[in-house]
Amino acid sequence: MVKFSGAWLKSRLKFLKNMHCPDQANCFKILQLMLDNEADEAQKAQFEWQIKNCMPCYKMYRLDAAIKEVLQTKIEVKSVPGDLVDTIKLKIKNAV
Ligand SMILES: [Zn+2]
Repeated sequence: MVKFSGAWLKSRLKFLKNMHCPDQANCFKILQLMLDNEADEAQKAQFEWQIKNCMPCYKMYRLDAAIKEVLQTKIEVKSVPGDLVDTIKLKIKNAV
């Protein structure tokens, strides 16, 4: 279960929808390249310009980056430490 609040996310997306981006398709393309670290120098320069001049896309970038961070943290949490496994095994052993 992802603890990320769905209501919070919805309110953020609604907020972003209400803002106007002059060139959303292009902005999103650059944003995705930046998030995947696949942007070349020209695209990085364009991105620098965009986040200064296009607030909805800047917000979207920050939101996407935050979601990625949460998902990565969640994946790390899934790896259970060895001593916890031993503790659970012991509890099962004692319960039987
Ligand atoms: Zn934009």
